[in-house]
Amino acid sequence: MTIQYRNGHSTRRHHRIVVTGGAGFIGSHLCDSLLQRGETVICLDNLFTGSMRNVRPLLNHPNFTFVEHDVREPIEISGEIDRIFNLACPASPRHYQRDPIGTMKTCVLGTLNVLELARAKGARVLQASTSEIYGDPEVHPQPESYVGHVNATGPRACYDEGKRAAETLMFDFHRLYGTEIKVARIFNTYGPRMLENDGRVVSNFIVQALRGEAITIYGSGAQTRSFCFIADLVRGLESLMESPATVTGPCNLGNPHEVTIEAIAREILAHTGSQSGLQFEPLPVDDPKRRKPAIDTALETLGWRPNVSLQDGLRATIAYFALRTATSELKEST
Ligand code: NAD
Ligand code: UDP
Repeated sequence: MTIQYRNGHSTRRHHRIVVTGGAGFIGSHLCDSLLQRGETVICLDNLFTGSMRNVRPLLNHPNFTFVEHDVREPIEISGEIDRIFNLACPASPRHYQRDPIGTMKTCVLGTLNVLELARAKGARVLQASTSEIYGDPEVHPQPESYVGHVNATGPRACYDEGKRAAETLMFDFHRLYGTEIKVARIFNTYGPRMLENDGRVVSNFIVQALRGEAITIYGSGAQTRSFCFIADLVRGLESLMESPATVTGPCNLGNPHEVTIEAIAREILAHTGSQSGLQFEPLPVDDPKRRKPAIDTALETLGWRPNVSLQDGLRATIAYFALRTATSELKEST
């Protein structure tokens, strides 16, 4: 499926842009979109959860370079750099808990290395932060002013607290060195190229439905999330990056359409026509009960709001996984 990225930046100058985590789900779509806009892209990734499959079509593009690199190590790139999108970090609980100390280091040392690069090059940096910095929220929906409710010692903390520390580093570099920063707090995002085995709910449910396997609902299924389609998110990240220098964020980027996990299961069953049943399993520790972004900041400062409906986004995502199933590429079990 080809996603066309629309944007309002037709009269900009050309930029040389680093995308860390560019071989991952969000990063590879961002690389596609930046190249479509005529930018030069250097993708840095250690392939922990990313895949060369996501960027292979770009390898022959004259404006694209792939560098296998771990952001926990200092980053050296010759020549000018105008922009850095820092997306390097596993995003799914299954993967960020697989190596929790490594995840914390990626968040903290990785962001520090990215900020040092930005400082050396005079580049602007956008940090992919997350709704997880709100933890299990006591305020609903979550505005950027909400300081959060994170358990610092639980199994999700390596990611939540790591991302919080990364935000702190961003703002300290801004205050101390005048680094131009943008902090995007990304809410649950879905779409083609999610890893089928990474444990996230939309990919799990779609793959299970297509295989006729039981749909694994953790807890009662009454917990909520708000799902944003990838094309909307990419447009939001680009708008935030190109917003005036005075706009630092944090800025929530997500779709305020809130659904229960059981409802999303039933939606996916309806779209796929699957006969899979629902199987209820224990709720993971510290699993947030509700999550919905307040997007007034994005609307007012960027004029951004998501415009792909859950139905259309699910159709596109199901089509992607159905194609991969048909070509027998989905071999691993979720
Ligand atoms: P992903 O796992 O598909 O992509 C992350 C990429 O970072 C992968 O390509 C991985 O190999 C790479 N990476 C991980 N550790 C690295 C390291 N130490 N050095 C270099 N590369 C490394 O996840 P995604 O969904 O594309 O998420 C991208 C970013 O967006 C992450 O920072 C994540 O925290 C953030 N985010 C995502 C969501 C979402 O719903 N997908 C929500 C909130 C925030
Ligand atoms: N979830 C589920 N079944 C699955 C995978 C996830 O019920 O097979 C639930 C999970 O417990 C959480 C929600 O779906 O309540 C979203 O999970 P995901 O890992 O996609 O995102 P996050 O918890 O990081 O928001």
